[in-house]
Amino acid sequence: MSTITEKQPSIHRLFSKLIENQTLQHAYLFEGVAGAGKKEMALWVAKALFCPHYSEEQQPCGKCHQCQRIDTHQQPDIIEIEPDGLSIKVAQVRELKEEFSKSGVESKRKLFIIEDVEKMTQNAANSLLKFLEEPDGDVTALLLTSAKQRLLPTILSRCQIVHFPVRPLSERIVELENRGLTLSQASLTARMTHDAAKAVELAQEEAFQNLVQTLWGWFKLLAKRDEQAFVYVQTDLMGAAKDRETYHQVVDLLIIIYRDLLNLTYSEQVQPAFLNHEAELKKIADQMSSRQLTAILELLLAAKKKLNSNVAAQGIFEDVALQIVSI
Ligand SMILES: [Zn+2]
Repeated sequence: MSTITEKQPSIHRLFSKLIENQTLQHAYLFEGVAGAGKKEMALWVAKALFCPHYSEEQQPCGKCHQCQRIDTHQQPDIIEIEPDGLSIKVAQVRELKEEFSKSGVESKRKLFIIEDVEKMTQNAANSLLKFLEEPDGDVTALLLTSAKQRLLPTILSRCQIVHFPVRPLSERIVELENRGLTLSQASLTARMTHDAAKAVELAQEEAFQNLVQTLWGWFKLLAKRDEQAFVYVQTDLMGAAKDRETYHQVVDLLIIIYRDLLNLTYSEQVQPAFLNHEAELKKIADQMSSRQLTAILELLLAAKKKLNSNVAAQGIFEDVALQIVSI
């Protein structure tokens, strides 16, 4: 219960005040990277509003019937929506509106939480807009997004925007060490995700460890400009990367390595994510120019975009290999 309020203390203070003074607005947009605590904070607000034991210390009890129903997503006056597949469809928004028109199942106070709100279809967004324009009773909307730039201006203008800041890398590494990861595990996974629980999960996953090793093998070929890097995609890499999530991890890991190399060309003091290979990375950085490294990072960012289209991952990786060995 206390973690989110420690993780985002200023947002906790803000909402404690709003709840205490009963000045909650109609719609808030929680905006920030994945793992910044948007959903946890939304659930905290839910409990703060519904827990009868919400205390002077500005904490819900976390144990009562209301708190438990919120934890198990069974509080009828709180509606949570997340994308159905790749998008939030108009039927989901319609359903939400119907639920809310049933004038407060148990109380007057109602709350809805929409995750990844940028994934709303145009129709769903229009439908939501109408809802936001015609507030009805004690309704509060918490819209969550990690891609604010993809939201319609009409939605943005109807919400109070709450930015969720992220903590510095060094702090997140220490937190992961406190959760039992080694420094080398922590320094890599803290760069993969801002979500501490997800980072711990990754570090412990055998498939991820295997992916990291395979990826390192690929990187060594790339760094040597060895044309085997092309064949390696099929013989090794595609055996370790099997779905959209791991394809993205492949590119993310390479981006992490090449960013470290770029930083190492400017300063000897940089501690790379792949701590166990620090000496090797420093040697490689000595042999590369920042212009080359920047070009490689650009092509990796383009590859990451391509992964979101229908192009087959193997083709994208082979193309990356061909391009990097010739830079
Ligand atoms: Zn409670």
